[in-house]
Amino acid sequence: MKFPKEINAYCPHCRKHVKMKVKVASKGRARTDAIGNRKHERSLLGHGGKRAGEKTVKKQGKRQKLMLTCPECSKKTPRVLRGRTRKKVEIQR
Ligand SMILES: [Zn+2]
Repeated sequence: MKFPKEINAYCPHCRKHVKMKVKVASKGRARTDAIGNRKHERSLLGHGGKRAGEKTVKKQGKRQKLMLTCPECSKKTPRVLRGRTRKKVEIQR
């Protein structure tokens, strides 16, 4: 799936439409000691049963997020591409 390098989008900080630069949002490094991760690891201990976080069904696609950067205030606005997409997003040159 291809996506243009620049799009005309609304900046909530400047309150107007500007040509924003597009970048694919990357996931940061997971904090192993965060409360959610500790809870999840505790739930994986023991003798099984139905356990959250263990995949039994493969998902049909991925929620892909783009980050739009405003050239005027250089603030970022997230944009999610229509729910789930099958193909990996590519930024056109
Ligand atoms: Zn702005």
